[in-house]
Amino acid sequence: MLCSSKKRAYGIGTTNEKDMRYPKLRELAEAIRALIKGPYTSRFPFRPHVPEKRFRGKPEYHKDGCVGCKACYEVCPAGCIKVEDAVDASPPMRRLDLHYDSCMFCGQCQAACITQEGIKLSDKFDLALFDRKDAVESVEKELVLCEVCGCVVGAKEHLEWVAKKLGPLAYSSPTSYLAALKNLKLECLKLERTKELTRQDRIKVLCPKCRREITLET
Ligand code: SF4
Ligand code: SF4
Repeated sequence: MLCSSKKRAYGIGTTNEKDMRYPKLRELAEAIRALIKGPYTSRFPFRPHVPEKRFRGKPEYHKDGCVGCKACYEVCPAGCIKVEDAVDASPPMRRLDLHYDSCMFCGQCQAACITQEGIKLSDKFDLALFDRKDAVESVEKELVLCEVCGCVVGAKEHLEWVAKKLGPLAYSSPTSYLAALKNLKLECLKLERTKELTRQDRIKVLCPKCRREITLET
């Protein structure tokens, strides 16, 4: 059992009366303020609602800023970004589909975007639809395939972005500098493929597996 002085020191059984009285006064003041100023709630949808700065709304792809690297797909915690590589198409294409009906607007895709320009959260919040299949945000990018095995090396614009970022260091990897040279239409460097892997196969756009194999064998 605590004595009354200790109860006072610990605040036990002494503040109940105040707690009961002051919040009621505060609520009364709040009610009077609301009567004078009007309601705090917005009149949406009767009046357009302007979201606050840095409001996290629907994520949107920006075709010119996106290079098709898939980083947004890798980090999305909700798994609402799907990637489809059409390697048999001409030219081969990568498609990223963001299903914003299962998005939780966390902003991880925007934070991880390597260009910081490819995907951004807009301030759009009124996203109601009749068919959830329409809740898709997409972007398409051309793919580069391995010149030996035909598997995906990456998106064309991603390789160019990497080469540009590396500057002269891009010349340490034929895949990087050939991707950059292809952008300059200097395709005269393309060498014919022979049956067996030879040293000339090093000067090709290759996937990491073929690059490793050629380095070891030739
Ligand atoms: S905001 Fe979050 S949940 Fe939505 S697409 Fe981007 S990473 Fe995924
Ligand atoms: S550039 Fe940005 S938006 Fe485009 S695929 Fe990469 S991470 Fe996603």
